[in-house]
Amino acid sequence: MAGPNPSGVSAPLSYLLLTLGHLWMLPVSIIGILWALATGCKPVRVDGDLAVYFVARPGWPAYWWFRKFGFAGFTLGTAITFVEVKYLWNQRIIRHEKRHVTQCMYQGVFSLITYPAASLLAVIQGKHHYHDNLYEVDARAHEGE
Ligand SMILES: [Zn+2]
Repeated sequence: MAGPNPSGVSAPLSYLLLTLGHLWMLPVSIIGILWALATGCKPVRVDGDLAVYFVARPGWPAYWWFRKFGFAGFTLGTAITFVEVKYLWNQRIIRHEKRHVTQCMYQGVFSLITYPAASLLAVIQGKHHYHDNLYEVDARAHEGE
């Protein structure tokens, strides 16, 4: 039997929780994968990673969307999409987007409501809808791990 992993959770329990997390967020992951494919993103294989990666193709809607709003990456469920392939080697941004995957594992389909609600809450408080969104603040806090 495998020993404890660095998280302190035994390996079998860790795998069980990971599997349950992926099942719980599966509807969101499917939406993320369909969004990426429908907006012209290319799937990219990353060995040893459970996330599903995509890279936007120039001239397609996702590329335009990323450029218009100034985002490097976008995560829905386990689908992580980047505007350019170079971000696949940016560990800070990878950690940020993977934190959104973890957030979604906890919240499942409710993340489709809680994330926009957090933006609305920030606006009501007179703050920025993106930078002060609680999920973005949390993701930024995990960039340096
Ligand atoms: Zn983010």
